[in-house]
Amino acid sequence: MRNLLLVSFLFATSQLNLSAAGEKLRVASVSTVDTEIVQQVGGEHVEVAALVQPGVDPHEYEPTPADLRKVSEARLLLTSGKHMENYLNKLQEATGGKADLLKVGDHFSSLKMKQGEHGEQSTNAGAGGMKEDPHWWHSVSNAKEATKLVRDELVKLDPADKADFEKNAQAYLANLDELEDWIRRKVAELPRNQRRLVTSHDAFQYLARDYGFKIEAIEGLTTETEASNRHVSELIDDIKKQHVKAIFLENTLNPKVTTQITRETGAKIGGSLYPDGLGTGDASTYEGMMKHNVSTIVDALKSG
Ligand SMILES: [Zn+2]
Repeated sequence: MRNLLLVSFLFATSQLNLSAAGEKLRVASVSTVDTEIVQQVGGEHVEVAALVQPGVDPHEYEPTPADLRKVSEARLLLTSGKHMENYLNKLQEATGGKADLLKVGDHFSSLKMKQGEHGEQSTNAGAGGMKEDPHWWHSVSNAKEATKLVRDELVKLDPADKADFEKNAQAYLANLDELEDWIRRKVAELPRNQRRLVTSHDAFQYLARDYGFKIEAIEGLTTETEASNRHVSELIDDIKKQHVKAIFLENTLNPKVTTQITRETGAKIGGSLYPDGLGTGDASTYEGMMKHNVSTIVDALKSG
């Protein structure tokens, strides 16, 4: 026991020395998905400050002075992109121009979402207009592209460790391939005409595109903006007509509207999803988060 303690103490000290000597590439990330990718690809060569932690709503996050200090020490800053970060200027200022900025999501084509779901960005689109959906990671093929982007960026900043970055990226990409196969098999359990996702958070366009779902978002059903009665009754008609068995909601919803919809349609609440990145428990990894969302959706929609 004593030897074991000594060994772990030495290990901890050597880790500290390494980072104190600045041998690790310092990265700051405001996306839980980017954080996992850069940790997987960077391995022992990176030290990642994960500013947005799993389970934190990235739409609500604001960098603290301590976060900005970490950004100022980083050589690479990873963001979600697609206008997810409305505090981007603050972060860039904090880097003092010394860090590379990789807005990961900006490298993939954008799907559109109805304006209003993410209020803080409503200035980016005209009234009633469409804006780009920032939730790109619900497509595993986007996550694979993100992995390659991060790999190439790490190689650029630390060419000496190129071989390790390439090996790590290859292993992570192989896991993503397996995950994608798993998702396709799981979704195949659900007949195509039952792949209808009625959700309060309009965040799953990329998942819908890749795996053949039709999305119906319940717009504006938050405590501040109540959905119009007309929209709710149209939705109720549609849920009944299509025999949708479950709807997926979040706790910011007005419970009165939720109850009205479930009572009048007979659809049940299908469980909670992770729209905004990694969560806690079984959803604290990218693979776990994707499997949780896909199983929750498929199991709820197919069960009678
Ligand atoms: Zn969101």
